[in-house]
Amino acid sequence: MTETLILSRYRLATFLACQRRFQLRYLRRLPWPAVPLDARLETVRTRGEIFHRLLERHFLGLPVIAEAIEDVVARRWWSLFQSSGLQIPEGTAYPERTLTIPIGRHFLNGRFDLLVLHQRAAHIFDWKTGKPRSESDLRRDWQTRLYLALLAESGQALGHELDLDHIAITYWYVNDPAMPRTLRYSQAWHGQNWADIQELVGQIDVHLIQNEWPLTEDRAVCRQCAYQVYCDRQEAGSAAVTEAEESTEPELSLEPAMP
Ligand code: SF4
Repeated sequence: MTETLILSRYRLATFLACQRRFQLRYLRRLPWPAVPLDARLETVRTRGEIFHRLLERHFLGLPVIAEAIEDVVARRWWSLFQSSGLQIPEGTAYPERTLTIPIGRHFLNGRFDLLVLHQRAAHIFDWKTGKPRSESDLRRDWQTRLYLALLAESGQALGHELDLDHIAITYWYVNDPAMPRTLRYSQAWHGQNWADIQELVGQIDVHLIQNEWPLTEDRAVCRQCAYQVYCDRQEAGSAAVTEAEESTEPELSLEPAMP
């Protein structure tokens, strides 16, 4: 198999969680999830989307009228954001900016809630409506690692090279509005991070060539998987399929992979 793939953070994380799931979802393109989200998850996702659209309007310079926000929770989040005092650095703001760069014969892809560019500096902002996480946890997360690497390697896509020591990402949580988590990139971090990403993409290539997609050994991963019936893993039981809970990225719009 010699497919060229668009690799988002979800796809990298899926490959690491279960290679068979990666194959079923992104190569065979079986629908996910097989059942509709339950009402709670649907509400969580819809609210997250409303909030992201509000901030998109705000950073596009369009007015946001609090009284017109029908969802009371989203209205409260907007109020929290406005009063949080979050510092946005000087520069040009690009809300909902997508960036795609080549890696081998594949592409890495990410969509930033907000990207601020100023000369050779870049700052990503990500709006979170879920449970706040620690900086050490976020540092290991594939969203952080992929997004920072995308910017560091994006010279051609952005038109000029960025200074790796002036690239950062800030996560802002509605549930901890006064404590944004900011992680600053560096030459040293990028050296290791980019090597890890290249190795991971190399592993995907090996599996593509051999067309072998082993099932995870971890049955806990199967508990949150919509593909149990394809793997004869129904005995793993089921938990809520939460993958989409915090996602407002149009993951499915990336399908299909490029020819
Ligand atoms: S059921 Fe388990 S083994 Fe099968 S794709 Fe899902 S996570 Fe992988």
